[in-house]
Amino acid sequence: MLDTTKFDSSERCNLCGTCLSSCPILNLEQDRAIAEKQRLNSGQLSMVLEKCTTCLSCDLYCPNGFDPYELILLRWNERYQKKGLPALARMVMPGDPASIWSQLYPLMPPDEQELINNWRARSGKSGKDILLTGCFSAFSPYLTMTPLLAGLTPYGDERNWCSGGHIYQLGLLDVVDRVGLRLQDVFNELKPRKLVTLMAAEYAMLGKILPQRFNTSFDFEVVPLEHYLLDMLRSGKLKLSCKVNKRVAIHDNCFSKAAGDAVWSPVRELVQACGVKISEMQHNKEDALCCGFGAAAGRFDLFDLMAQGKKRLAEAEATGADCLVVYCAACYFIFSVVRELVGSKLEIYHILELLDMAEGRLPLHRTRRRAFNIIAIMSTNITRMLLQSEARQRFRIDLATIHGAPGPVDLDFKSDRLCAFYNGFFNNSAMQNPFSLSILTALVRLALAGRRRFNHG
Ligand code: SF4
Ligand code: SF4
Repeated sequence: MLDTTKFDSSERCNLCGTCLSSCPILNLEQDRAIAEKQRLNSGQLSMVLEKCTTCLSCDLYCPNGFDPYELILLRWNERYQKKGLPALARMVMPGDPASIWSQLYPLMPPDEQELINNWRARSGKSGKDILLTGCFSAFSPYLTMTPLLAGLTPYGDERNWCSGGHIYQLGLLDVVDRVGLRLQDVFNELKPRKLVTLMAAEYAMLGKILPQRFNTSFDFEVVPLEHYLLDMLRSGKLKLSCKVNKRVAIHDNCFSKAAGDAVWSPVRELVQACGVKISEMQHNKEDALCCGFGAAAGRFDLFDLMAQGKKRLAEAEATGADCLVVYCAACYFIFSVVRELVGSKLEIYHILELLDMAEGRLPLHRTRRRAFNIIAIMSTNITRMLLQSEARQRFRIDLATIHGAPGPVDLDFKSDRLCAFYNGFFNNSAMQNPFSLSILTALVRLALAGRRRFNHG
């Protein structure tokens, strides 16, 4: 049983309001910040619970170290216990037939399907230096087809719910606890010599959040990918001899804040070594804004996600950068999708792709195709929700299903007919031309503007 009192700092909070008045999303005057914090402390409804983008910054703003972000998660957990989750959340529930994973795998090319099966396998991986791929990396497995990761043995299975990072961001604390315990079982079997995390969320969850807040502990070294790559650079194993002639902005991932400067400086050193010019965005490092994923946590609204993603892309464009570099596979997928929907010209690169270019390799960079695969999945789920009442039902996660290491590895890649239809619709020449795409982006921008004007002031 999880002890949720660790997330509750309401008794200790002295209501100075700094956390919420410093929040770059809420922009509250001091008096309003104090009033909203008081409401949060006492468990009343607060606009914070609707508008928070789960960026983690307020934990860094509190001068007393009272972790106000975790109180927000606790209040969302209480909401979940009372009401469950809206149907749309199934899209990010691993193993659910409506999830992106279940619907995306059949749409992937064979080389990526093979990777997914290889990642899931556990036999022969015991005692190795493991690369924990993470469930959102499974949306773009091609990112790992690089010699940069040749020294690591990849393991990842979305049926482990990754390290529970995105479930933690939604405030599903009991579920995170189960995910942590199951992960502990899996790693007791794998016994990694060390674990390199492909995503900052995994580094924060395994290195700090799970051991400190949940009933989980790990007895191996956890290393963020950025440290692993920086060691390669400093030891001369990385030869970045092909300077990349680009101006780039860097998006700092929300979870990187849990590790402080452990990730931000290494990322910049690596990016700088590629020969690019870095243009920092207005909000970076401890003040970085969410990519959009967390913006949907408050109301489970795809418009909130798109509006936040658009805002972040606009901030990157304002720097004059040609491209946006990310080091999180979830941010990579969100930006890739939002970019297509709002018609941004900014290229999105994962840091592995940038390093590949600096070593003289052309990255596979399947972002556009993958973005439209995911747009097809979103369209499928929305259509089902419109047509079928059971597809609109709220739900709760059955904790009994998160137990023991996942079973058989190989997927059968069975395709969903409606999803295959939408995928064919979006990924053909009639749709993939400048005219059709400009109509799509005009419609999305119109919808976002209308939503802002009529619903949210
Ligand atoms: S987590 Fe981020 S968006 Fe949410 S209240 Fe804290 S600073 Fe604001
Ligand atoms: S900054 Fe810290 S002490 Fe001040 S209101 Fe927020 S949680 Fe309470």
